[in-house]
Amino acid sequence: MRALERDAAGQGERRSVPFFRPDIGEEEITAVVETLRSGWLTVGPRTQAFEEAFAQVIGAPSALAVSSCTAALHLALDALDLKPGDEVITSTLTFTATGATIVHAGGRPVLADCDPDTLNLNPDDVARKVTPRTRALVPVHFAGHPARMDELLKIARQHRLTVIEDAAHALPASYRGRRVGTIGDVTAFSFYATKNLTTGEGGMLTMADAELAERLRPRRLHGMSRDAWRRYTTEGAWRYDVSYPGFKYNMTDIGAAIGLVQLRRLPALHQRRQQIVALYNELLADVEELQLPTVRPEVEHAWHLYVLRVRPDRLTINRDALIELLKAENIGTSVQFIPLHLHSYYRTAFGYRPEQFPVASAAADTIFSLPLYTQMGDDDVRYVVMTLRRILHAHRR
Ligand SMILES: *Cc1c(COP(=O)(O)O)cnc(C)c1O
Repeated sequence: MRALERDAAGQGERRSVPFFRPDIGEEEITAVVETLRSGWLTVGPRTQAFEEAFAQVIGAPSALAVSSCTAALHLALDALDLKPGDEVITSTLTFTATGATIVHAGGRPVLADCDPDTLNLNPDDVARKVTPRTRALVPVHFAGHPARMDELLKIARQHRLTVIEDAAHALPASYRGRRVGTIGDVTAFSFYATKNLTTGEGGMLTMADAELAERLRPRRLHGMSRDAWRRYTTEGAWRYDVSYPGFKYNMTDIGAAIGLVQLRRLPALHQRRQQIVALYNELLADVEELQLPTVRPEVEHAWHLYVLRVRPDRLTINRDALIELLKAENIGTSVQFIPLHLHSYYRTAFGYRPEQFPVASAAADTIFSLPLYTQMGDDDVRYVVMTLRRILHAHRR
C-alpha cells in the first residue's frame, strides 16, 4: 500500500479520487461532542459566537446564521416584498436554489447569460434584461470567482435595484480589494457539506444595513420576538409576539460548533485549495484539448470549483464520454451546472430557449469540474491529471 502510494504517478496504478471528501478533523469532532454534552443543541450561544466571528472575518457589520444558503437567499428575497410580476435577474449558470428562491419569494426569475471567460453573470446582458418590473439582481460568484460587481452595482443604482449575492462558492473571495460579503446589499453564503467551509448544513447572510439585519433576525425563527434561547433558559420568559410569518431557518449550535473550528482553519483550507489549483494549472497548461479556468486580475478567487471546458473541435469524444472514462478510472467529476434555462420547469413556466443564452448553452455541453478538496494530496492531483491526459491523448482529433 505504501509503495503504491509513493508510486502515485506511476503507470497502471489503480487509485481512487472521489469528487469530494469533507475535511473534518479532531477539533471539529471535539467541538460537536462538547456541544452535545452542553445540554443546548439548537440555536444558542455557539451560533451567536459563529455569527460574530464570521462577521469579523468578512468585515461585514452584520451577519445572520441560517440553516442553508437556500434559506439565506429566500430570507433576503422575501424582504423585497415582491408583487406578482416583479422580476429578479440572475445568472442561468447556477444551482437550482438561486432560481427557486426567487419563485418562492413571489418573483419571476429573469435569466441572463454569462461572460465567456469566467462564466459569471454578464452585466451587458443584465442591462438588456432590466424592465420597469425589475426589483433585484442576484449575481452568482461562479466557482468562487467574483462577478463584475462594479458594472452590476452601477446598473442597480441606475434602476434602484437591490443586489443580493449568491456567494455559495465565494468564501473567501475579494473583488478590487473588497471582501465578498461587503459589496452588494446582502450576501448569502453556504456551509453545505461540499462547500469551502462546512457546518454539515448551514448558511449565512451578511449585510451592511443594521436595520435590515434586525428586521430579518426574527424571521429565521418563525418571526418570534424571543428565540428559544431566551425563552427556555432560566433567565428567559415565556411570552413572545409574532410580528411576521417567519421561517424555520435557524442554524443549530451543533453546526455552529463545527463552523467556529472551520472558520479558524479557513486561511489554511484556502491556501491548500490554491496549491491544488496551482498544481492543476501547471500540469494541464499545455493540454490543447481543454480550456483552463480564467482569473481576472481584479479578483481573489475562492476556488470552490476547478471547472474545465473540453474543446469539441479537438476531440473525438464529447464531455459526457470523458466523464464516463474518468469514472472507469475511479476519478469523480461533476458538472456545475446544467443551466437553469435547460430544465423543464424553466422551459415550460417561462419559455426559455437555448439560443437566448449562447454562452451558457455552449458551456452546458463542455464544462466539467475536477476533484478539488483540501484532503487531496499532490499525488491525487497528479493521478487525476495523468489519467485525464492519457484519455485525451487517446481521443485526439
Ligand atoms: C450550494 C449552492 C447553493 C445552495 O446552498 P445550500 O446551503 O445547500 O442551500 C446556492 N447557490 C449555489 C450557487 C450553490 O452552489
